[in-house]
Amino acid sequence: MRTFKKSSKLDNVLYDVRGPVVDEAARMEDDGARILKLNIGNPAPFGFRAPDEVVFDMRQQLADCEGYSDSRGLFSARKAIMQYSQLRNIPNVDMKHIYTGNGVSELIQLSMHALIENGDEVLVPAPDYPLWTACVTLAGGNAVHYICDEQNEWNPDLEDMEKKVTERTKAIVVINPNNPTGAVYSREILEGIVEIARRHQLMIFADEIYDRLIMDGYEHISIASLAPDLPCVTYSGLSKSHMICGYRVGWMVLSGNQACMKDFILGINMLSNMRLCSNVPAQSIVQTALGGYQSVNEYIRPGGRVYEQRNYVYEALNAIDGITAVKPKAAFYIFPKMDIKKFNITDDEQFALDLLHQKKILITRGGGFNWGEPDHFRIVYLPRMEVLKESMEDLADFFAHYRQS
Ligand code: PLP
Repeated sequence: MRTFKKSSKLDNVLYDVRGPVVDEAARMEDDGARILKLNIGNPAPFGFRAPDEVVFDMRQQLADCEGYSDSRGLFSARKAIMQYSQLRNIPNVDMKHIYTGNGVSELIQLSMHALIENGDEVLVPAPDYPLWTACVTLAGGNAVHYICDEQNEWNPDLEDMEKKVTERTKAIVVINPNNPTGAVYSREILEGIVEIARRHQLMIFADEIYDRLIMDGYEHISIASLAPDLPCVTYSGLSKSHMICGYRVGWMVLSGNQACMKDFILGINMLSNMRLCSNVPAQSIVQTALGGYQSVNEYIRPGGRVYEQRNYVYEALNAIDGITAVKPKAAFYIFPKMDIKKFNITDDEQFALDLLHQKKILITRGGGFNWGEPDHFRIVYLPRMEVLKESMEDLADFFAHYRQS
């Protein structure tokens, strides 16, 4: 029998958040090990609950959600997303340019396929949420990474961004608030990005899935609100704000200059039709979720779990000799730096495996976020304080003795 190889289209696609180190952790679990998982941004298993009214609404509506919906989504869901977009000052939004998806993930993939020709370039942040780079690559494009500057609170380095624009650049991806750094970009930075997009006639893809998880009173500004003259696509959803990653519901909103996106929109419509529609029961709760009680606010204010866990992890990491971390302003991730000379680290996957084998702690290596040096890793600070304390103590002990051979 001939052998069946995976498509060569996948050759350069990297998606390490669920990669080889995770597979090794699963193998260890099968052997009975207890692994401390600090690797995945999935709130429900850590005891975070959706607002009761959202679950109630889903129960009530389930019986009426048996059929396909309009491929872009239910009218009620899109109406609520429309209003949400208006509240975020996103200009020129039309109901026909709002699309629901099985999570933002599906819509990222769909948009990259609708836009990219082989060899096209898209500017993507480093570090990034790696799905962006993976989807650009899978669609035949090249993700060109612009640096986010740790010395400047992980803000995008605008000079670096502009330097990387070429004739083949079609778009800029902005992940704000950012995964994995927890950065929230200021108006000034966002205006700088818009200027670059304007000068070079680029589309803006704005991943704002963490827009309702902002701490310390920082303001979240939708970049599309600053770019009424440019083609923008803004992504958000309920996975994180309502702690319902498993329901699979997100959306994207096209805004700004619709005229120059006409043909792209035809592509989006075609791909959206091809997948028929997104999960209808999940769409059915969007109106209640966006218009109802925002229980997420309880988690992110002083005294709330996400807020207190962020503070604890930030302090604990910076207390470890050889580790420094910028304080995240949003979401539930922190991206600490290791002194790689001190620890002699040359391979961050090996570091992640060593930590897993020695302390049974699972983190994601920085390279998994398209970070070029082996000197970072990401921690998800969703587990309960007791678990975080145990893991930070183990981590401190690990680094007190670690030297990669
Ligand atoms: N964008 C970012 C920045 C994320 O961190 C995630 C998930 O972790 C997603 C998009 C995908 O979210 P979902 O597909 O659950 O809507």
